[in-house]
Amino acid sequence: MDLPTLTEVRLPASRADLALSATVVPLGGGTWLYSEPQDHLTGLVDLTALGWTPWERREDGGLSVAATCTIADLTRIPPTAGWRALPLFRQSAESLLQSFKIWSSATVGGNIATALAAGALIGLGGALDAELVVWTVDGGERRQRVADAVLAQRTTTLVPGEVIRSIEFAPGPLAARTAFRRIALSPLGRAGTVLTARRDEDGAFVLCVTGGTTRPEVVRFPDLPAADELAAAIGVIPTWFTDAHGAADWREAVSRLLGEEIRQELA
Ligand SMILES: Cc1cc2nc3c(=O)[nH]c(=O)nc-3n(C[C@H](O)[C@H](O)[C@H](O)COP(=O)(O)OP(=O)(O)OC[C@H]3O[C@@H](n4cnc5c(N)ncnc54)[C@H](O)[C@@H]3O)c2cc1C
Repeated sequence: MDLPTLTEVRLPASRADLALSATVVPLGGGTWLYSEPQDHLTGLVDLTALGWTPWERREDGGLSVAATCTIADLTRIPPTAGWRALPLFRQSAESLLQSFKIWSSATVGGNIATALAAGALIGLGGALDAELVVWTVDGGERRQRVADAVLAQRTTTLVPGEVIRSIEFAPGPLAARTAFRRIALSPLGRAGTVLTARRDEDGAFVLCVTGGTTRPEVVRFPDLPAADELAAAIGVIPTWFTDAHGAADWREAVSRLLGEEIRQELA
């Protein structure tokens, strides 16, 4: 849709050109920004003009994904020795209901910064303990886990002027076995709950719940939990919510069932 309050859409050549504020914000793929009125905005700064490489193998064997990497490019990372968790990237991306236009344009940074409960790549980052590299307003940089950066629906720790530069996946979680479950009230409905999980080579078990909770909820155990231990950990999650896509008590109950399926799959 048209955004009539905009007076500029800038193409930065470097970080120095960003000059962001509360009313001049980063533009990723624009799929959310152009989908509803943004009457508080006067400008957009198109991060894709910075030409960041979509993803790179790090020297330590980890993976660095640029914030401007599209969801489509994220799913095209080829099978790579040591990156056993890659199937979770595609499963998470596909949990986002989208047309091919969103698939090809929406960026990883934009998806995380939008901070929807069903934030497809928030669950991915939560399960793999991925870290955001954030360019701060003072010209510096800070790092924060994806699961800690998303505080509630449409709320993150990002302050005006900050930019997500990349999402960093460490080699340990990338080498983990992973599992994924998603359920919705209708076949093409928005997610009622999404569970993403990993089992590390040392046995550690990490599960992230999104979709049915207002923020990513991560539960972790040093080894495979017993069925009742996992059910109890899911049961004490405090942020289940009710909307058109599911009632809070249904979301909690079905998450316990799906969590048990995952526990058995990763046993
Ligand atoms: C029809 C439709 C269906 C959708 N379904 C889902 C769904 O099922 N699950 C889901 O998760 N999402 C869904 N979305 C929303 C989806 O999250 C976004 O459309 C998309 O992921 C946003 O990515 P983008 O790159 O287009 O972001 P943009 O639209 O460019 O930006 C979104 C927000 O992020 C900010 N931003 C962008 N990049 C950065 C950065 N690097 N650093 C800091 N801030 C940044 C922008 O300023 C803006 O506030 C849907 C959207 C539409 C239109």
